[in-house]
Amino acid sequence: MQTSQIPEIFKAQKIRIRQAEVQPIASRIASLARIKRWIEQNRRQIQDAIFKDFGKPPAEVDLSEIYPVLSEIKHAQKSIEQWTRSIRAAAPVALIGTKSRVIYEPKGVCLIISPWNFPFNLTVAPLVSALTAGNRVILKPSELTPNCSSLIEKMVSELFDPDEVAVIPGGKEVAEQLLKLPFDHIFFTGSPKVGKIVMQNAAQNLSSVTLELGGKSPAVVDVSANLEDTAEKLVWGKFLNCGQTCIAPDYVLVEETVEEALLEHMISYVDKFFDPEGEGIDASNSYSRIISSQHLQRLDLLLSEALDEQAFLECGGVVDYQQMYFAPTIVSKVGLDTRLMQEEIFGPILPVICYSKLSEVIEQINQRPKPLALYVFSESKTFVDRVIKETSSGSMAINDCIIQFMNPNLPFGGVNNSGFGKSHGFRGFQAFSNEKSIITQKTGMTSVKPLYPPYTGLTQKAIDLLLKYL
Ligand code: NAD
Repeated sequence: MQTSQIPEIFKAQKIRIRQAEVQPIASRIASLARIKRWIEQNRRQIQDAIFKDFGKPPAEVDLSEIYPVLSEIKHAQKSIEQWTRSIRAAAPVALIGTKSRVIYEPKGVCLIISPWNFPFNLTVAPLVSALTAGNRVILKPSELTPNCSSLIEKMVSELFDPDEVAVIPGGKEVAEQLLKLPFDHIFFTGSPKVGKIVMQNAAQNLSSVTLELGGKSPAVVDVSANLEDTAEKLVWGKFLNCGQTCIAPDYVLVEETVEEALLEHMISYVDKFFDPEGEGIDASNSYSRIISSQHLQRLDLLLSEALDEQAFLECGGVVDYQQMYFAPTIVSKVGLDTRLMQEEIFGPILPVICYSKLSEVIEQINQRPKPLALYVFSESKTFVDRVIKETSSGSMAINDCIIQFMNPNLPFGGVNNSGFGKSHGFRGFQAFSNEKSIITQKTGMTSVKPLYPPYTGLTQKAIDLLLKYL
């Protein structure tokens, strides 16, 4: 679709949603089945496109792009009848004789703007939620993954009419043009900086927003943690997608007496995962590349600034601009005021910082914006409970990382700077639905009639009774 077609497509979608009765459940189920079949038939193309975009290994595409979308579709197919059922609500005594219920109606015409880091997953999974809720949708995938974005455009054009779902490719300028339109909901995944721009634009039309943003997600390693297991999970979670994951552990806070052992295990897992034959990590077919040379340069600079400030390079640090390669890198003794510890890293550099008391950890976390994810590795229930109770974050995983994303029964999303509104499963359906309240009264009846004017002494007595007892 061309940018010049935006007004026409938007208008056509608005007209279609107004004319149509609420999209029947059967046709929503059919749309989900069409997407599922297309993905199953085009799995190879999805792998190839994302490999071309940033060298992501096909197995990782299966695991982190295809599996989450298929799982979202299957969950929606199983649950749609239940989610779309109207829910009876109880009424207070003052409303005796009435019937109350809540129905979920589609919000209408929705915009989904997605990032490049999980380009298929983070575009198609919200589409699944929007269609399950019965909406019309315009998608704006990222300009930084042209191969995957064109494939999504192809998928949508094969499966839907543009007045149902349309893809508008392009970058910032296209997004800005789309954001001027009065969408019924905007679902944005990206950086907090652009999230603010999206919200400002949405405010002009009072469009509701879901903002799935980023930030620095800490991992805390207590003295009681199983260090080898922790190291293995942290190395997997951090270097998956070459560290370009919104919920990757951004930095590690480790109890000082176990720092050395944790570092040893982590360094050994980097080799076990990415260089088992000793041929060099740049030869590994299990490790992605950095998305663009600007991103590579930014990471390179973040690392060299930290090293200039006396951080210690435990492993990695190798950068190859030809190959867009940045080695899995672990650094210790990092200054808290370096940019590495101030900005979201969003790449394969893992700073490890020591602490001596839990109160220091809690203070460190709470003085920064609330994270999207927080990870705790500990065998102590008291330790874990204190972190749960004394910090705020979008999600937490105890003794693991990343896996909270894989459970469609858990709401996924951030809090304040890391975003708001939730996605996945029922919460995704809810984000794209208007929860409409309906109360039905019998003609001629109402238990609140004694409260109508004129406000006589008798009315006042009825009001007093209401305040006191009902
Ligand atoms: P980004 O904010 O730069 O871009 C996201 C989308 O916004 C892209 O489609 C881009 O074209 C568009 N965009 C860019 N500038 C815009 C503008 N001025 N106005 C309107 N739209 C604009 O983010 P990115 O670099 O693609 O992704 C990385 C960020 O996304 C990180 O901060 C990461 O943590 C976050 N993220 C969050 C989640 C989550 O689920 N919470 C998931 C993935 C990524």
